[in-house]
Amino acid sequence: MVLRAELTSGWRRVSRGALELLLPRACLVCGGAMDAADSGLACGRCWSRLPLLPKPWCPRCGHPQAAHPAAHRPATTACRVCAQLHPQCTIARSVCWVPHAASSPMLAALKYQGWWAIADAMAERMVRAGREVLEGLERPVFVPVPLASGRLRERGFNQSAHLARALAARTGGVALDAVLVRTRATVSQTQLTPGERLVNVQSAFAVPVLRRAAIRGRSLVLVDDVLTTGATLNACAVALLDGGASQIRYWTFGRARSDADRP
Ligand SMILES: [Zn+2]
Ligand SMILES: [Zn+2]
Repeated sequence: MVLRAELTSGWRRVSRGALELLLPRACLVCGGAMDAADSGLACGRCWSRLPLLPKPWCPRCGHPQAAHPAAHRPATTACRVCAQLHPQCTIARSVCWVPHAASSPMLAALKYQGWWAIADAMAERMVRAGREVLEGLERPVFVPVPLASGRLRERGFNQSAHLARALAARTGGVALDAVLVRTRATVSQTQLTPGERLVNVQSAFAVPVLRRAAIRGRSLVLVDDVLTTGATLNACAVALLDGGASQIRYWTFGRARSDADRP
């Protein structure tokens, strides 16, 4: 089985060196000056303002349990966010809430400017907050949620692929960009209701036959920038499981508050 490591250490060294010359030294979130110790395009103050998901978390989906006010908690102990995830998703983890004054500009920089340095800084926080995603994985295999090809052409990069590569580089794993493809165009999920999101992405992904050997029987870590309703990640999970994967884990930087979090 050939697994393609997307980054060699040599390439990483060269690109990081080049980036240091090109990077702006003003924080992209607050516009303030960056200290020499600051990395990842945002200043230390802005990183410290990230609205980290408060603990305790649901052990499976990683959603803050304290976010459910006791009076509104369902009578059963079942987690409402867990219920939204594909049954074969064994664990999901995220770092912080979105939207937020600190996290949203960072995600916009990743999405629209494609800065490697912010992907790496996000991956660092993802590993710090959600290391248990990697449990039992000797060499984790990260699969980014693919962008529609039209959008990929427009932007020239996929923000989830940047995150997946940064995670692979930090954990000794591999990022597989090509195992999951979009089979049809979808509209941006941003303005859609949860029901519309589901219909929009259903059957929108597939694993090409020639790529199946790379995932057969494997436990995969599906990577995206934000977990909102789980519709996109679930649609990807269906395609990966159909393609032969044995188990799926979800890992995102941001997480939207669910209906269950609102009193
Ligand atoms: Zn700042
Ligand atoms: Zn849960």
